[in-house]
Amino acid sequence: MRYKELSEVYERLASTSKRLEKIKILSDFLIKIKDGEEDIIYLLTGEIFPDYEEKKMGINSQLVIKSLSKSLGVDKEKIVEEWKKIGDLGEVAEKLIQKKKQITLQFSVLTSEKVLKNLRKLPELEGEGTINKKLSLIIELFNSISGLEAKYLTRTLIGDLRIGIQESTIREALSLAFFNGNKEASEKIQNSINKLNDLKEIFLICKQKDLKRLDEVKLIPGKPIKVMLAQKVKTIEEGFKEVGIPCAIEYKYDGIRIVIHKKNNKVFLFTRRLENVTKQFPEVVEYILNYVKGENFILDSEVVGFDEKTKTYKPFQNISQRVKRKYEIEKLRKELPVEVNIFDILFYNDKDLINMKFEERTKLIRKIVQEIPFKIRCSKQIITSNINEAKKFYEEALKNNQEGIMLKNLKAIYNPGSRVGHMLKMKPEQRDFDLVITGGEYGTGKRSGWISSFIVSCSDEGEYLEVGKVGTGIKEKSEEGFSFEELTEKIKPLIIKEEGKKVFIKPEIVVSITYQEIQKSPTYSSGFALRFPRFVSIREDKPLSEITGLEEIEEEFKNQKN
Ligand code: AMP
Repeated sequence: MRYKELSEVYERLASTSKRLEKIKILSDFLIKIKDGEEDIIYLLTGEIFPDYEEKKMGINSQLVIKSLSKSLGVDKEKIVEEWKKIGDLGEVAEKLIQKKKQITLQFSVLTSEKVLKNLRKLPELEGEGTINKKLSLIIELFNSISGLEAKYLTRTLIGDLRIGIQESTIREALSLAFFNGNKEASEKIQNSINKLNDLKEIFLICKQKDLKRLDEVKLIPGKPIKVMLAQKVKTIEEGFKEVGIPCAIEYKYDGIRIVIHKKNNKVFLFTRRLENVTKQFPEVVEYILNYVKGENFILDSEVVGFDEKTKTYKPFQNISQRVKRKYEIEKLRKELPVEVNIFDILFYNDKDLINMKFEERTKLIRKIVQEIPFKIRCSKQIITSNINEAKKFYEEALKNNQEGIMLKNLKAIYNPGSRVGHMLKMKPEQRDFDLVITGGEYGTGKRSGWISSFIVSCSDEGEYLEVGKVGTGIKEKSEEGFSFEELTEKIKPLIIKEEGKKVFIKPEIVVSITYQEIQKSPTYSSGFALRFPRFVSIREDKPLSEITGLEEIEEEFKNQKN
């Protein structure tokens, strides 16, 4: 398919803010995709691979500016100047290319397949001359492109497509295109997305226009899945009412959620962000191979840090480094040891278990896991209908340095990717939110050269709304913990725009922020501002889809007034 055709669809999607219109535009487009062209689905969401694929284009705005400059023979400074004026690098590219085309009257046909082919080569490039090779792949595309195409290619490259499409819009469009918008179909499509995390695969299934095919979608050990999420409760009484009694109550460990897969004697570990972290946790791989029976399986777990000497548990922020660190792993493993706590099972010896009742799944775990304290355990659990017993268990969890408890309905199934009312979390009131960094400001004096304050945002139906500015809780130097220097390095490739000292940042880095109070505020787009916000940790493991929503902030604001 011509890239122009896809760009026109992007443009139509961008030009309306109405969700139903977007769904209709997308649905009409999906029907037109021919056999063999299905990879275009990834481009539709601004990606080049399925969700679980870790290969990234690794392109920042500076590289795009360089490519544009070379392709058009326009000074980089001029492009940056235009960017500051217009605010969107995509529109700058569009304008510059339109101008050039008027002079050279060049025509050519760029296909979406060619765009994908070049973009997919980018992550493969390594070592010497990488930048130049990347540049030439991008320039090749810019050389044969119209203004509109350049706008969307640029936005794809910097990861800021701005067409207002979310996974749910694609789901509804698939349902409309192939099942007349049937509600049941939408649900089944969502379930399949949660299991497979590959929109192209789902598209191919939907194309058969047979709901049964969607039912047949199974988990595949080795392929990451989205985890089931918990709703919050404030009291045990409320929890009992919600999940029914008797129910299972477990420790809520304060660690890293890891989904463990075993297949052909190999173990794979994935975060809730679907990132493969097998290399980062060699001891977990050993424990699984040595202490869990079964040919193949998928387990849900929380990996918790502990102090080797005192044998006490440590909070998440003390071991958060283990998620990302790819060097000196053996050293880190000794310094920050972890214990695996298995709390669910989704697949066992070729059988998908997500429709099995929790009481049976939890029994199975206890049959197949050999528990070795401070290596691997089944999550600590009681099954009860007694409020006092439950309260005692909650106190015990807190005394053991855990975050609180989870309450689980014994009859419930496992719903990948959903926040469900049959698994609840309860922890002491704690004023913290998981937010995403969307902006910042370069510091002055000792901190010049670093971004030293950060704008953080919550989510609201796919948009990110600002709730405050944080500069405390971050260290000056790297040795002392997470530093301005390190954070600046992480953020640089994500800068979408700079305006004087201010930077606009692509939402990607999730952080835990504590605060003392929520206030109404006209300064920030959410309408709220956090008072005395303080940085606690980076949540490398949490996806954007799980950050605090505006609703939760509104609710906390109301509670606080009461
Ligand atoms: P949430 O992430 O908001 O759904 O909060 C629940 C989180 O608690 C899960 O994602 C897990 O990472 C963590 N967790 C700790 N212990 C357990 C447990 N026993 N069962 C389920 N989740 C647990």
